[in-house]
Amino acid sequence: MKKALEEQYLKLGISEAVLSFGNKILASLEGRFRQIDEIAEYNQLKVIHAMQDCKVSEACLLGTTGYGYNDLGRDTLEMVYAKIFHAEDALVRPQITCGTHALALALMSNLRPGDELLSPVGKPYDTLEEVIGIRESKGSLKEYGISYKQVDLLPDGSFHYEAIRNAVCDKTRLVTIQRSKGYQTRPTLSVKQIGELIRFIKGIRPDIICMVDNCYGEFVETIEPGDVGADMTVGSLIKNPGGGLAPIGGYIAGKRECVENAAYRLTSPGLGKEVGASLGVLSSFYQGLFLSPTVTANALKGAVFAANLFERLGFPVVPNGTESRHDIIQAVTFGSPEGVIAFCQGIQAAASVDSFVTPEPWDMPGYDSQVIMAAGAFVSGSSIELSADGPIAPPYAVYFQGGLTWPHAKLGILKALQSLVAKGIVAKETLA
Ligand SMILES: *Cc1c(COP(=O)(O)O)cnc(C)c1O
Repeated sequence: MKKALEEQYLKLGISEAVLSFGNKILASLEGRFRQIDEIAEYNQLKVIHAMQDCKVSEACLLGTTGYGYNDLGRDTLEMVYAKIFHAEDALVRPQITCGTHALALALMSNLRPGDELLSPVGKPYDTLEEVIGIRESKGSLKEYGISYKQVDLLPDGSFHYEAIRNAVCDKTRLVTIQRSKGYQTRPTLSVKQIGELIRFIKGIRPDIICMVDNCYGEFVETIEPGDVGADMTVGSLIKNPGGGLAPIGGYIAGKRECVENAAYRLTSPGLGKEVGASLGVLSSFYQGLFLSPTVTANALKGAVFAANLFERLGFPVVPNGTESRHDIIQAVTFGSPEGVIAFCQGIQAAASVDSFVTPEPWDMPGYDSQVIMAAGAFVSGSSIELSADGPIAPPYAVYFQGGLTWPHAKLGILKALQSLVAKGIVAKETLA
């Protein structure tokens, strides 16, 4: 078997040296992988339990057309999400086009002119800069008279409580907390840390809405932001909770009033959650959610493997090889554009779809530097699938995520290493 497996890797362009280096790293990760599997087992049961409690039936898998009145499957799925994310209600819709849209919707529907938004965890994800108006943009919160304040994390990644207390004023209506690091090299926040921050904010003024950008965090831990007091938990279905099957969509789970506000904004005042046909996507939403805990675990194994492998080769990695995990993203700093490009081209070459194309840096809407993206995905742009992206800007880090199956994640990382070896960025001798 070992020989046959080696031959498969060889056929896919992985040299013996790269494979045996990878396997050496893997041998040290058994304990970590077992922990990841236990979390997946817990979350799998959580999802099944929620589906049983909500009486998901065969009829729920069908969809509606037109206005979408009385869409049993849609309404039941929203109950399932509310249970899983410990919320009163949820909005889970194909009409929410992506994560940025879900976050923009949650913000725009719960803030009013004169209100202030506060980020106590530093700069938010790049695409939110235009939503908020940090970078000038048509239709931003700023254009509607909603102001913004930001408090950066302390250099060690902890909360600057004193500055947060000073930043909260009478106008502060909503606090946005990004769980994942996004395109930064700060640590990702654990759900427990998020809970401490929420408790602190509520201690200043209990009526401040605490929203968590949960992108890439779903099912990585056994608890979610709703378990620690978040008023809204927001994310994308083409990341973790769609399990690779959802072809589009986003969710907002939270307090009934917050979700209601979002629904009136998504559709129309007066209509809210009552309309919004689910068309044919419900069975993939349900089945994707069902698969999400194990799919997330596969992606997580890939992230842990990549961290240990590139750390051993001397590249700075965030999180490091041994740290506990709170999202599926792995940052590796190569220090040069060539390193970022070689890594992404290796990931692309491991894909089942579009493996033969060569990704190049380009000016992506919503981002302020050029970005290179490797994505050979069944769902376009899906980043729960094996993918990597890197802004072409210092410190020249790539952000690697996804892998619907563990063997695919492993192949991707080995291909990336092979590509770095081929370009001379990793010296062959270091693999010995
Ligand atoms: C991906 C992501 C977003 C935006 O989601 P899109 O679906 O790409 O619009 C927002 N915040 C974080 C932390 C993300 O990872």
